[in-house]
Amino acid sequence: MFLLKSFLILKFSWPTTGNENRLLELEADLLSGKLNHAYLFAGPPEVGKLTAAKFFAQLILCENEACGECENCKRIRTNSHPNLTTVDTLWIEDVNEDWELISRKSNFNQLHRSKSPKAKTDSLGVDDLREILARIHNTHEGWQIFVIHNVERFTREAVNSFLKILEEPPAKTIFLLTTSNLPLLLPTIVSRCGVLQFGNVNSSAIEKMLQAKFPKLSGEELKRVVNFSMGKPIRAIRLAENPDTFREFSEYFRKLKNLVEKPDTAAKMQFAEAVSVDYAETQKFLEAFTYFLRSFLLTRAKQPEANSRYTPKKLVNLLHATEATRESIERNVNPRLALENLLLQI
Ligand SMILES: [Zn+2]
Repeated sequence: MFLLKSFLILKFSWPTTGNENRLLELEADLLSGKLNHAYLFAGPPEVGKLTAAKFFAQLILCENEACGECENCKRIRTNSHPNLTTVDTLWIEDVNEDWELISRKSNFNQLHRSKSPKAKTDSLGVDDLREILARIHNTHEGWQIFVIHNVERFTREAVNSFLKILEEPPAKTIFLLTTSNLPLLLPTIVSRCGVLQFGNVNSSAIEKMLQAKFPKLSGEELKRVVNFSMGKPIRAIRLAENPDTFREFSEYFRKLKNLVEKPDTAAKMQFAEAVSVDYAETQKFLEAFTYFLRSFLLTRAKQPEANSRYTPKKLVNLLHATEATRESIERNVNPRLALENLLLQI
């Protein structure tokens, strides 16, 4: 047992929380010198996939275990390393036009987006792909690394061109891709990558991380941040750093509580409409609702005599119904209808 445990110790100081087994796989590839041409960091949003991908890039480019001091590390920190291309925030008309902020997150040329009438969405098109790949053809030596966040953003056209690149990757090039929506990716893309499945992180690991990073948080604040983070360390950091985000989450939970405590058909329909506007919002709701039902179930288990129409059996049924709703939305059932149907069961 002791021996087994000692294998789980990471060699490098990853700036992430949890998912150690995935990091061990990356370390093993790095230490053996057998790096894949492409890795896919898959899993729920805000668990640290992008953070892990960027640190892995730093481990590859720095000659001294991501020391943080050398020229390579300094350039990576300012997102100006010629061998590291990061594709994260995009210029989007009327939504995201702050070039300074964009350049801190993405360092490929995006000027074409502001000239194109199509650049109104968060999708990565063929023009973007061309600018991203233009960074391969330079004279710098060593590994060329491309970190592409939420790779499901590629348009159909762009993803086909990208697939060709993955089929015959240029020498000394590594793609580190992330996705929080694996089912949306072409199987042919996934099969060309070393897939690293990330998952939610347990509360005690998140609590420990928060205590170290934010020693000023009171016990009560700490508990609430851990609760709202729902297993997502990056979200926990955002909540601890930003009172507005924290308020936003408190408000969301208050709404869910209202919906359950004061059932009102019109309010349910309104809520279903609001959260079905896009995929991200729907996922956020399903996740928060599952979490809410689970906490409710725990409270009820502690007070079995409480007079409530929500018996543990009813709560378990609602949890199953929420899961079934998630599955039917994945199978392309109209999200609004699916959510209305779920909320009417409350
Ligand atoms: Zn370094």
